[in-house]
Amino acid sequence: MPMLNASKLYSLLLTTYGEPRWWSDDPYTVMFQAVLVQNTAWENVEKTSASIGENLNPETIYALSQEELERLIKPCGFFKAKARTIRALTEWYGRYNCSREKTESKTMNELREELLSIKGIGEETADVILVYAFYRPSFIVDAYTRRFLRRFGYSFQNDEEIRKFFTSLLSADAKDYGYFHWLLLDHGKTYCRKKPLCSFCPLIRLCKQKED
Ligand code: SF4
Repeated sequence: MPMLNASKLYSLLLTTYGEPRWWSDDPYTVMFQAVLVQNTAWENVEKTSASIGENLNPETIYALSQEELERLIKPCGFFKAKARTIRALTEWYGRYNCSREKTESKTMNELREELLSIKGIGEETADVILVYAFYRPSFIVDAYTRRFLRRFGYSFQNDEEIRKFFTSLLSADAKDYGYFHWLLLDHGKTYCRKKPLCSFCPLIRLCKQKED
């Protein structure tokens, strides 16, 4: 059976799981959580964000000392490095008056370069921020995506090839990219885990590496 192209794969996931939720409509919440979630469970990020409540905004977070911020985000691990990254990211956002509209003066690639120049922001985090915070179509490739594609039967040499596979067939739309990422994440957490639950997987008929 020929492999599904990116559009068909997207339709399949959408039909299977339905329209996913969006990360957050608040750009700063996305940025803050995108750093926190590195190497920790999403539940820790949610708990920490809930404990910060209305104070999760650039002005309040930037007014905290490094130590205060570290204490606040400690449950998410790597808190010293993450606190430094959050401060640098907040400072960067401040250059745009903490306004999504102001970032529109820059191209997506310019914003991506700026984000990548911040210590602690790698490609995945930068793309998450571009898509969910600034509505820019920069396809996100993460460990769940790589694992699923490999098991499903696709063969790519590197992330660039993966990105081309998705972007050559999907129109450059941040909403679709955001949804696609979330669907793959959901699938990877629910069924295509490290130890996959193939017998329960809704995509098993099409998968090349299903368990016997
Ligand atoms: S059948 Fe198994 S390996 Fe294939 S996508 Fe589903 S969970 Fe992953």
